[in-house]
Amino acid sequence: MSTPPTDALVFFGATGDLVYKKIFPALQAMERRGRLKVPVIGVARSGWTIEQFRTRARKSIEEHGSFDAATFARLAERLRYVSGDYGQPATYAALREVLNGSLRPLHYLAIPPSVFSKVIDGLGQSGGARDARVILEKPFGRDLLSARALSVVLHTFFEEDRIFRIDHYLGKEAVQNILVFRFANTFLEPVWNRDFVESVQITMAESLGVEGRGGFYEESGAIRDVIQNHMLQIVGFLAMESPLTTSHQSIRDEQVKVFRSIRPLGSGDLVRGQFRGYREEKGVARDSKVETFAAARLHIDSARWDGVPFLIRAGKRLPTTMTEVLVTLKRPAFSTLCPGEANYVRLRLSPDVTIAIGALVKRSGQELIGEPTELKVLHRPGGDEMEAYERLLGDAMAGDGTLFASQDEVEAAWAVVQPILGTGTPVREYEPGSWGPPESARITEGVCSWNCPAADALATKEGGDQKLIEGVSRQQRT
Ligand code: NDP
Repeated sequence: MSTPPTDALVFFGATGDLVYKKIFPALQAMERRGRLKVPVIGVARSGWTIEQFRTRARKSIEEHGSFDAATFARLAERLRYVSGDYGQPATYAALREVLNGSLRPLHYLAIPPSVFSKVIDGLGQSGGARDARVILEKPFGRDLLSARALSVVLHTFFEEDRIFRIDHYLGKEAVQNILVFRFANTFLEPVWNRDFVESVQITMAESLGVEGRGGFYEESGAIRDVIQNHMLQIVGFLAMESPLTTSHQSIRDEQVKVFRSIRPLGSGDLVRGQFRGYREEKGVARDSKVETFAAARLHIDSARWDGVPFLIRAGKRLPTTMTEVLVTLKRPAFSTLCPGEANYVRLRLSPDVTIAIGALVKRSGQELIGEPTELKVLHRPGGDEMEAYERLLGDAMAGDGTLFASQDEVEAAWAVVQPILGTGTPVREYEPGSWGPPESARITEGVCSWNCPAADALATKEGGDQKLIEGVSRQQRT
């Protein structure tokens, strides 16, 4: 169903970090492709002039995009700026004036979640929500109750098909690739179940810490920041049944079924960690119990996955920045041919996109014994590929909700983590640059050891946009 496109873009929180790092570069990319045809209005409390706002946009693109003077000049012409307090009707009146008769604006709430309701209410009361769309950034609420409360406020002024809950992870090529790899390849489906899969692991590692944003992180922690959303989305794509169609509704329906079949996490399924030095960060409480690392064992109560552990782990100040899935298959009957080894599927989602199948081939020599190799497809993003934010902004402007989270998905995901939110489980200290607290080994106990992705020699050696297939030696495991 086609819906009329947006005729103005409005960013609340236009002076903030997200707009600086992601949105301005995405806008320039859209401008370059000729996909941006509407005025772009920044709203914030800071009393900036339009020139200050343009300078900020330029700096942002120089730092986080690829600055192109001619394209930027066109983008700068589109920029407008409105300053005001979100609690004051005058702010929304000023916005309406600048919107200058726009019929279908898209309001992007790039503001702290604590301010969402105030802005939605301000838009609604001022008539600014009529026929408008709204984009919210995750997290959608702080827990199940607040997610429901936010939904009530949103639905007072916006119907569900005008609400776009952005989880930029869903816009990533690599994440969408999981679906294609799973459902466009006949060889995979017969083994993608409890009969053949031993365990599924997902590691989302960041080498950076909180980078001066300790105050912000104190409000979230790893479970709210990435596990409830990004990591569960990946679990959903890995574990879902084949959608009836490729429509977003079918895909979401299957995602929601997976989330609802995951047992709510208990304290025994979780290890929380905090890197040494976190409490000295600006904005962080000296006795903070907020986790910068979390490892958990998920149980999916479905016919396909019953008994297969899904082991997930995310953290800051780990040895590398990388997101990787490892699906380990059960050992074949002749284990003497492959001592200590099993086939596996490895999906690296970032920074490069890799699909690798761990296979055994005969070691040369007299012995009949297998040697591990990987059959590997590597795709390095580049060329004309769209960044997630450019893709998502364009989709929301066109009214296409495929890559956005729905309310039932959000609530089902909160229900999984709800019992482990807060400080009920101990937070274990770990060394910066390590793979988290040693206690996290408890999560994989009796199943496997954690997959510790190393930087990939091929990924760093080869450049450009490419695909290649090779046999390479197996990566490091601990
Ligand atoms: P910031 O902390 O940078 O805040 C954005 C802007 O909001 C500020 O520049 C400030 O502008 C305004 N603001 C801050 N506090 C208040 C307040 N109490 N009342 C009214 N306005 C306020 O946030 P981010 O840009 O980092 O994040 C925005 C949203 O995006 C959040 O929901 C966050 O969870 C999400 N997000 C952010 C990511 C990132 O990389 N930064 C990544 C993924 C999601 P001014 O004072 O000028 O009005």
